[in-house]
Amino acid sequence: MKGRVYKSTGSWLEVKLENGESLPCKVKGKFRLKGIRSTNPIAVGDWVEIERVDDGTGVVKKLIPRNNYLIRKSVNLSHRAQILASNIDQVILLVTLKQPETTLGFIDRILCSAEAFHITPVLLFNKIDLLEEEEMGRLAEWMELYEQVGYRCEAISVEKGVNLDVVKELMTDKTSTISGHSGAGKSSLINALDPNLDLKVKAISTYHKQGVHTTTFAEMFDLDFGAQIIDTPGIRGFGVLDIDRSELSHYFLEMRELLSDCKFNNCQHINEPGCGIKKGLVEGRVAESRYFNYLDIYEEDKSENYRGTDY
Ligand code: GDP
Ligand code: ZN
Repeated sequence: MKGRVYKSTGSWLEVKLENGESLPCKVKGKFRLKGIRSTNPIAVGDWVEIERVDDGTGVVKKLIPRNNYLIRKSVNLSHRAQILASNIDQVILLVTLKQPETTLGFIDRILCSAEAFHITPVLLFNKIDLLEEEEMGRLAEWMELYEQVGYRCEAISVEKGVNLDVVKELMTDKTSTISGHSGAGKSSLINALDPNLDLKVKAISTYHKQGVHTTTFAEMFDLDFGAQIIDTPGIRGFGVLDIDRSELSHYFLEMRELLSDCKFNNCQHINEPGCGIKKGLVEGRVAESRYFNYLDIYEEDKSENYRGTDY
C-alpha cells in the first residue's frame, strides 16, 4: 500500500494511506541516501510503500524517490545529516513592507535557499491594508523586481481578506511550507485558510520554541480545501542552507542565465575581468539590490548569522 508520512517522532511514523486512514508505522531495514549518513532515513513528506502487520500497525517497505528534500547538517559530532522534510512543491514567503519590515536581504536569502533545495518560491506581500500611498509605490517596485526575476508575486491582506482566494488557488493540490519573519502573518494566514488547522500548528510551534534544538518534529497537515502544509522550525526560518559559495550565483535565477557570458568559468563575479554578471548589472538585467545581496551572502557564507534568520 502506498502512503505519505505526516509525522515522524523517532522510530514511529504516522502514515496516511490513499483511503485517508492514518496508520502508525515502523521503519525496518536500511534506507540510505547516496553519500549521506542521515539520522532519520524517512522524513515527513515522503511517499512510502507499507505493509500491514498483525497488531494493526504498518512497516515501511520502500521509499518512493523524493522530488526534493530539505536537509540540515547535524550540529553535533556525529556528522550525520537530518532530513527535515521532502516532496515540497513550494515555499510561500510572506513579505511585509512594515510591521515588521522585511528586507530585500532576507527575501534574497530565502529565495536562494529555496533554489538550492529545488523548491519553487511564491512571494505573498502581506498587510497591504497598512500601506500609505507612497508605500504602495514601493510595493509595486518590489513586486516588479521579483516578477522580473521570474517569481510569482501577489499582494494580500490576511486581516482584510484580500486575495486569499488566490492564495487558496495557488496552494490547492500542492505541498507548501510557509516562511517569513516572525510577525509577518504566518499563523494568521493559516488560521484564515483553515481555522481547525491553526490550533494544531500552534500546538507544535509552541513546542518548538521551548524545545530541544537538535530534535525536529516536522509535521504535515491537510487543509480542508485540498492542500498540504509542512511545518518545521527549520523551514520557517529557512536557516538550513549549506551550499558551496562558488555555486551561489546558480541560485540567483537572473544571474544563472548570464553565467555563460563570464570569461572565466570559475568566475565569482566579484572583481574578475570579463564578468557577464557585472555586465548584466550595468545593463540593468541584474538589479543592484540582488547583486549586493549576492555579495553579502557570499561573504557571510561561513558565518553563523547565515543559519536561522527567523527566530
Ligand atoms: P507570525 O509570527 O508570522 O505567525 O505572525 P502572526 O500571524 O502572529 O501575525 C502577527 C500580527 O500581524 C498579528 O497581530 C496579526 O493580527 C497581524 N496581521 C497579520 N496579517 C495582517 C494583515 O494583513 N494586516 C494587518 N494590519 N495585520 C495583520
Ligand atoms: Zn562573472
